[in-house]
Amino acid sequence: MAVPRNRHSNARKNSKRSHHAKKPKQISKCGNCGSPRLPHTLCQSCGAYGNRIMVEAEKG
Ligand SMILES: [Zn+2]
Repeated sequence: MAVPRNRHSNARKNSKRSHHAKKPKQISKCGNCGSPRLPHTLCQSCGAYGNRIMVEAEKG
């Protein structure tokens, strides 16, 4: 296993970690009914994925 020869400075460590922040979840609109849904997921209110309806939504 590779072993680091020299220690990195705190500034180098911190600048490396400047890209590690978590981003908020993307929320997109359903193209069929317009309700908010996560990208690449089935719409929870109408059951559409892409421009097709995959599952009929349950009533009630
Ligand atoms: Zn929908």
